[in-house]
Amino acid sequence: MDVITLLVAVLVNALLMSLALVVCVGMRVRSGLQAWQFMLLGQAVGFGLLIVSTRAAPGLLSTLGVMVLSASASAMVVAVCRFLGTTVPPLWLLVPPLVLGAVHAFVYDKQVLATGATNVVIGLQILWGSALLLRGARRVRWRWLCGMAGVANGVLTLARALLVLGWPEVYPRFIAPHPLNFASLMVLNATMVLGTMGFLLAHRDEAEQALVKLASLDMLTGLLNRREWMQRAGRALGQADGSAVLLMLDLDHFKRINDERGHPVGDEVLRLTGEVLRGELRARDLVGRYGGEEFCLLLRHCEPEAFGRLDARLHQALRRRCETSLGFPVDFSGGAVRVLPGETLATAIQRADDELYRAKDAGRGCTLCADGVL
Ligand code: GH3
Ligand code: MG
Ligand code: MG
Repeated sequence: MDVITLLVAVLVNALLMSLALVVCVGMRVRSGLQAWQFMLLGQAVGFGLLIVSTRAAPGLLSTLGVMVLSASASAMVVAVCRFLGTTVPPLWLLVPPLVLGAVHAFVYDKQVLATGATNVVIGLQILWGSALLLRGARRVRWRWLCGMAGVANGVLTLARALLVLGWPEVYPRFIAPHPLNFASLMVLNATMVLGTMGFLLAHRDEAEQALVKLASLDMLTGLLNRREWMQRAGRALGQADGSAVLLMLDLDHFKRINDERGHPVGDEVLRLTGEVLRGELRARDLVGRYGGEEFCLLLRHCEPEAFGRLDARLHQALRRRCETSLGFPVDFSGGAVRVLPGETLATAIQRADDELYRAKDAGRGCTLCADGVL
């Protein structure tokens, strides 16, 4: 086998994988997978240009080829950053291909310098992308998979630069039948396959997380939805030792707000209530939207005095928040019970609901607690 044959194999592989991704996942995915498609396409076009440059217009085509390969390495960095939710200034992505193009065109007739510069720039770009992936990868399998493949690729590319600059008589150019060329093209091929697998895994994980979020959160308030809250509270009650308080609250005269000010304002009140609850509660408390304008809170390890203070803070914070943002105050009625050891969630909720109705009957805007419990 000669190097050109291997190059053609890399090109065909990259082309097929990028087309397969377009067909299977589509062009409209906004995640890093789209950037990875461009990376694969860049490899195919770049190597295509390098192969043709061995037959025609060598100066122009090989310069264009290395620029496209460097742009493809930038696309890899973009893919990584998109999956990690970070960004890179566009300048950092554009400068390597442009500088490499200029240097390559300038020193094209000095093969050693042209090949050396190409491999240094692209090798560093690949290592940069791989380092971003591996930093803090912990147990994320796809990050290890892509990161380690990238490191192998980057190291071999830099080794080519070292060899061509240090021992040009041993390693004349990238199409020479040198073992390093065979090794790095094979590793590149493997990297593209492993990377595509890794990014597909990441894409699936992302979709799975989005589904879990959709299934467990209430989209308007960002709080847990009823099903998720019930599940988590049920689990927490399994370890109840009499120190947990269950609080059900219901906004007062909410229907009137909807009727007089419109549904969007009602929605905004619900959203602000979610913000207030999240802001005032501790990380160990569980808060969910139980129904339309009803919320449920499970406060773990909550002493009576602390509960009294928290309740006063919640009433005040909601009134203030709505007054400031919407120009009118909103209050709620609450019912609280201390969860008894061994009590089921359903009975605790029923008892809290009874207290809530007593609070409504008592004139609203207050929280009542089961007799002698708090
Ligand atoms: P009370 O003080 O006795 O609790 O009276 P209320 O008006 O708050 O209670 P009621 O149960 O009569 O009205 C609740 C209203 O909440 C009725 C329903 O249209 C409205 N609602 C339920 N879900 C939503 C929602 O997601 N957005 C909006 N804007 N309104 C909602
Ligand atoms: Mg209600
Ligand atoms: Mg209400």
